[in-house]
Amino acid sequence: MKLHAIQTGFVRIKTAQLEGRGRGLRRRLAVFADRNWTGWLPTYAWVIDHPDGAIVVDTGQGKHLLEASRSLHPYHRWEVVFRIERDEEIGPQLRALGIGRRDVKRVVLTHLHVDHDGGLAHFPQTEILVSRGELRTASGWMGRLRGYLPNRWPSWFDPVPLDLTTEAFGPFAASKRLTEAGDVVAVGTPGHTADHLSVVVEDQGMTYFLAGDASYDEQRMLAGQVDGVSADDDVAGGTLRAIREFARNRRVVYLPAHDPGSAARLARTVSVSGPTVPSAPQNIRR
Ligand SMILES: [Zn+2]
Repeated sequence: MKLHAIQTGFVRIKTAQLEGRGRGLRRRLAVFADRNWTGWLPTYAWVIDHPDGAIVVDTGQGKHLLEASRSLHPYHRWEVVFRIERDEEIGPQLRALGIGRRDVKRVVLTHLHVDHDGGLAHFPQTEILVSRGELRTASGWMGRLRGYLPNRWPSWFDPVPLDLTTEAFGPFAASKRLTEAGDVVAVGTPGHTADHLSVVVEDQGMTYFLAGDASYDEQRMLAGQVDGVSADDDVAGGTLRAIREFARNRRVVYLPAHDPGSAARLARTVSVSGPTVPSAPQNIRR
């Protein structure tokens, strides 16, 4: 099995989205009040080159997102900026890796935000799995009001709704095996969106955690820092706690979609070093 990072351009968001300020509605409104932008963050999609067929996790950005600034939706108009060239979309990049359309067995989306479903057009013949709840949240006019772009889905888009079972996978309450061998598993990581999922890949004693936007980077996962867009502080915080617990018990390479360190950690197989909790002051007698 081989796991590849595919960078589909860059995105800038407000710093109050990267790192939520306060709690609840105040935290979410702070994104709109913030004038400070992050630097350019990468947007990664992933391909698991599995013996049963390749599995693509998220499809990244598409060039159509460059028009998003003309949207009437206040988030797209004011709170996000994308950068991507046509040849940075996932289709051409898969071909460059020698993975053709027919080699991809299925696509799994962590959630339906526009920088994760932006490359769907490259998979017209592929089975696409989306959490049933996420699909409901993102569809129709309500979806558009919530900041999704269901109007930009390809006309043929008809994903297979994914229902996680109540079978726990480590600290994650809901999960679903995606391969016969059980070495690729979807786990529920609610928070960033209510039905957000992550994909766990187990290979040769290492565990790779394709986190989507469960956190924007490893450091904020370790710090338990909820982002600016999660609906529920406790749910999002609980997911970050579960990921930390998971990473304590095994060697986990943690790979969020927008972490500037993700590709390097994957390339060098750098696992989560553990929470950077300052150690208690030593009681030293002199
Ligand atoms: Zn997102």
